[in-house]
Order: sequence, then structure tokens, then C-alpha cells
Amino acid sequence: MPEPGDVVEIRKNGVTYRGTVLPRTEEIPEDVLVIKLKNGYNIGIKVTPDTEIRVIERGEPPKKYKAPIKVEYNPDLPTAALVATGGTIASRVDYKTGGVVAEFTAEDFLLSFPEIADLANLKLKQVSNIFSEDMTPEYWVRVAEGVAEEIKNGVDGIVITHGTDTMHYTSAFLSFALQNAPVPVVLVGAQRSSDRPSSDAAINLLNALNVAVNSDLAGTFIVMHETMDDRYCTIHPGTRARKMHTSRRDTFKTIGDIPVGRSYVLARAGKIEERWVEIWGEEFRKRGQNGFKLVAKANPNVFLLKAFPGLRKDVFERILLEHDGVIIEGTGLGHVRQELIPSIAEATESGVFIGVTPQPLFGRVHPHVYSTAVKMVQAGAVYLEDMLPETALVKLIWALGQTKDREKVKEIMLTNYAGEITKHSRPDAFW
Ligand code: ASP
Repeated sequence: MPEPGDVVEIRKNGVTYRGTVLPRTEEIPEDVLVIKLKNGYNIGIKVTPDTEIRVIERGEPPKKYKAPIKVEYNPDLPTAALVATGGTIASRVDYKTGGVVAEFTAEDFLLSFPEIADLANLKLKQVSNIFSEDMTPEYWVRVAEGVAEEIKNGVDGIVITHGTDTMHYTSAFLSFALQNAPVPVVLVGAQRSSDRPSSDAAINLLNALNVAVNSDLAGTFIVMHETMDDRYCTIHPGTRARKMHTSRRDTFKTIGDIPVGRSYVLARAGKIEERWVEIWGEEFRKRGQNGFKLVAKANPNVFLLKAFPGLRKDVFERILLEHDGVIIEGTGLGHVRQELIPSIAEATESGVFIGVTPQPLFGRVHPHVYSTAVKMVQAGAVYLEDMLPETALVKLIWALGQTKDREKVKEIMLTNYAGEITKHSRPDAFW
């Protein structure tokens, strides 16, 4: 069998294919050879007894890539820690082999985005290199600890590169775990990887860095493209951002509140020509305040359950009883089918915490409008105002990581820590 990097000619069923052998990934069966064709496409060919394979040129084994530059410290610039977790933004295709290179060093970031050197000194900390669908609460804890360490080292701001799929879960966890953070902690990602011409990685990263080192904010935020073009990025609160489109660059929206503000960076030929940060809300903490505390605790035995017509009672009951806490994404003002309510009573009596959040996402759940909700409250369910379902899930994981006492958990869940519960639902926050 040829090795990755070899140029081969394969004849099968009367067709000849020529290309470079790519490294095998876990999901590709052993009898399939994947090659990169000259036109750039990759194809997989099942090797059968009648397949002829000829190695035309032996390739060099893939080398560990090393960026050909050195980062110089600039004492006139602020310093940001770049905490890398993985995701599309930090992946690069090695065109020789077609494989994705996993490690992204500070030099790699500088090489891909040279304007960074004009904005801040960068200190890279790699905590993981995974796609965000593979994130777990254990990783959130690791990220929070990594960020806390950098805060204690005195950096001026933190940028966390992260996959977009579950970025808002991580941002919610950090919003709770990094209490009274004295600097901006900004999560950023990309919908298209940095090696593609249509990539949003550079604009997102530069704006995230701009917010991290040049804004007066403190706390956890997500900074991503505001529109489909490359103009601005929006600053979203860490507990109210949500991925709302599978592929558009402006996928993130602030739900149930107005965004924190907007960032703009105009970069040309490696230089920053213009930059600013605009803050829209008034209620944000300012950088530099004291009282930072890391509470990176998690109990992952929590479930997020979407109520839907026909949800089976036996399944519902099993889910409630098998977890320490369950967030129900209730229909409308916060309901489940009435037939399911006795299961809520049974679960809360056995010590399971049950919180109710709004399936419509905008607006708040209400325990007194319909008799269904009144009965759910009597059964022990706790109505969580306008907290977003995913944020409530993360908060419950965090709360149950700290205490088993259900009254204490209830108190934590109903206390607003980072904008996850608003006093009033703003009419201008609905679009
Ligand atoms: N599935 C990827 C992830 O969330 C997509 C991305 O990187 O944006 O990690």
C-alpha cells in the first residue's frame, strides 16, 4: 500500500485516477485509499483485488509544520492571552497531504493574521484541540482554569478560539465560573476555515482581540460577524448568545436582550488603519475591578429536555429520575402535557431539581397564567424567568457542581450572575 504523500496512479473499472495519497482518518475503512486529485477534490477508492495501484513518486512523510517567523515582544502594546480550544478557526490544511494540521501556535496565528502584531502581544495557551461538538463540562472547567491562570498573570484581555457549534455553552459556563473577571474574556470562532478565501476567521479574530485589549468591558463575551459582509462584529453577552444559522457568518445573535456593542477593525497589508469599539448597554462591568474569583465546578449529570406533543410519559419519567437536575424547555409560557405532571412531582420529591425555560426563546416563562403551569409549580418545578434553555442547562451543571442542597441550587438558579435573567424583557430585543 502506498504511504501518505505518495503520488499514485490507480486503475479501477477501466478508469485511471492520479493523485496524492492522504493520511487515513479514523472513520475511513482500511480498504479505502483517499487521494487528492489535481483539481483539488479528494476521492476515496475502495481497493479490491482488481484495483491496480502504481506509485509514481515517493512523497516525503508529512513534516511537522513550523511557522517561519519569530514573535517579538512589543512593550508599547497590551498583552492578550490567546486560549486555543480548537474548532474551524484554528485548523489549517496542509496542502501537501490534504490533512488538517491540529496545532496552531502563536506564530501560526501571526503568520495567518499578521495584523495581530499591530494590536497586541500574544501569549498562546492551548487547552485542547477539538471541535466544539466534542466539548464536555470537563473541558469547560479546563478552559476556565486556563483563563483564570492568565488573568492572574495580569494579561490585558483574553481571546478564546473555539468551534462555533457549542460556543454559547462554553461562554455561559465561563460567565458563571469567572466571577468578577477584571478583563474582557472573548470567545471567537469561524464558520469557514482560515485557508478558504471566504473565511471569516481574520475579521472575527481581529475584532475579538480589539474587544479584549481595547475595550473598557469586563466579563465573558462572544465576538462574531454582525452581517454577511466583512464590516463589523457584534459583541454578544456570554449568557445570551446563540448560533442561529448553520452556515452564515452572521450566525450568532443576542437573544432576549440587546447586544453589548460592536467592534470595527480595518486592516490593510498587515497594519491596522482604523479600529474602535462601541458599547450599547449601560449595565456592563468595567475592566480593572477587584474581586475576581474562579468557581469552576460542574456536575454533568443534568439533562435538557424539549417538551413536544406526544412526548412519551415513560421516557419523560425515566429522564427525570436518572438525573440530578433537568431543564425543561417548556412550550409557550413554560408547559408540558398535563399527563406528565405527576412525574415531575415524583422526581422533585426524590430530590431532582427541575427548572423550566421558554421554548420560544424570546420572552419569559410564567407560572400563573395557565393552570398547567400552576400545577407544574405545585409539583415542584422552578420557573427560570427568561433564561435561555442552554444557558440554564449550563448554569444547573455549575450549580449542582457546587452543592447538593436543592434550596441552595434554587437560589443560585434564580440569582442573576451575568445577564442570564433580565429584569424586564425589552421590546426592542425581539426581531
Ligand atoms: N463543528 C465545528 C465546531 O463547532 C464548527 C466550527 O468550528 O465552527 O467545532
